[in-house]
Amino acid sequence: MSRIDKHNAPSLTLIRFQNLMGALVVVIATELGRSTDYRWHCQGCHLTGDGHNLAVNRDGANEHAAACRALPQPTPTNQTA
Ligand SMILES: [Zn+2]
Repeated sequence: MSRIDKHNAPSLTLIRFQNLMGALVVVIATELGRSTDYRWHCQGCHLTGDGHNLAVNRDGANEHAAACRALPQPTPTNQTA
């Protein structure tokens, strides 16, 4: 039985929510062979939740998005002049 490297397994963004300030809260699925791991991540405050159930992660991400006031991360600017 081969072992799957969780950090290099293929992942897919399934759901995107918007928090109160416009930052994305995403639900991500990672394929781990016979199972799928789900987690959510706020791109504003970097809070993360995880588990093996899509519904739990969807609800957690949605609840977080409804309460989080973190601004979206700034986009890098080109410093060359
Ligand atoms: Zn947040």
